[in-house]
Amino acid sequence: MFLQYKFPIEPSRAQHARLASILQLQRNLYNDALQNRRTAFQRGVHLTYEDDTKSLPAYRMANRQHTALPWGINNWTLRCVDTAMAKYRDRLRANPNAGFPRFRSEDRWRSFGVHGVRGCVIADGYLTVDGIVGKLRMRMHRPLPADARLTRLTFTRRARQWHVAILVDCKVGDQEHKKPGSACGLDLGIEQLASLSDGSLFDDTPRKTTQSSALRRAYRALARCQKDSRRRKKLRERQDRASQRVINLRSTRLHQISAAITNRFETIVVEDLALKQFPRPTRTRRPSDGAGAIATRENGQVLAEPRPKRLLEMIRYKAEKAGGKVVVVDPRHITQTCNACGSPTSESNDADRHICACGADVPRGTNNAINILARGLSAHAAALGRRVGKVLSNASV
Ligand SMILES: [Zn+2]
Repeated sequence: MFLQYKFPIEPSRAQHARLASILQLQRNLYNDALQNRRTAFQRGVHLTYEDDTKSLPAYRMANRQHTALPWGINNWTLRCVDTAMAKYRDRLRANPNAGFPRFRSEDRWRSFGVHGVRGCVIADGYLTVDGIVGKLRMRMHRPLPADARLTRLTFTRRARQWHVAILVDCKVGDQEHKKPGSACGLDLGIEQLASLSDGSLFDDTPRKTTQSSALRRAYRALARCQKDSRRRKKLRERQDRASQRVINLRSTRLHQISAAITNRFETIVVEDLALKQFPRPTRTRRPSDGAGAIATRENGQVLAEPRPKRLLEMIRYKAEKAGGKVVVVDPRHITQTCNACGSPTSESNDADRHICACGADVPRGTNNAINILARGLSAHAAALGRRVGKVLSNASV
């Protein structure tokens, strides 16, 4: 399976400059390739990733700074262009007036990557990649798996701090789960992030923390200062660091929840999120936050990230790693059924607790989770029955 490990790196001053210059070169390549696609698109020609790679040698000859870099870096950037164009074509299908992908300014270009890592060595906490920079010191807070095969590197700069994300392909042993035979139903929601069928509830990060207050203050200060001033640039960096701290806090919480669930249960039954309707997170805009503060892109992203989906992704790979599995069931009528007596409930969906005439009184999430588990187990039993039935019919012949 593929796993991604992300480590902070501590570049020297020269390496810092080198990484920044590569980032800049890749941004130029992205914008040039996008321009190329755009002109072709307007003439009615659909270029592909392969067309882009074919014209890459000529581009590298014309822009000599690129020739020192490995090809894998340019390929990574061209893949980004290809993805952006694919998404654009999807948008066009839904809306004929959809906007063309953005050209990237410095503020909107944070990463470059290397596809197909050759000549890359990780030893003693140092990363060496041919043609990029010499030995880069990483803060490796956990070891890579012993049999890991490096597949892709992505370097990202956020708030003056560089990170490297290492995608590895490794074998997950067919080990048994620590608690074989254990199963739970899991209900994912916005208000209550995760509810289990055994009654445990997991909250999201509290909305108001020291970090989120700092972020709000940073945005307020940013909204007040003059455009294009040096102070604004400085405050922008402060806001960037504050955003990053909030993002880290929130993702840590998701990792903790998903690890707790996958360690305790072998089989985890969830609803099919593609079929489930979530209420859209409401963005409140208060006048005290400064004009336009909450509406800015990054802040909106921090607050309105689709959390249940992200949590489920983490649960999937952690379950696979721990020897467990995730079972997906149809979400229809899950919320409208009482877990104890099976009768349909008439309550509105936003009631906190599920209270039934039969005497059941549990949090709504728990009721859903128990129903999800029951549905998962009956589907499993039906599948087993079909298999047994097949074996029997074969035997009778
Ligand atoms: Zn009931």
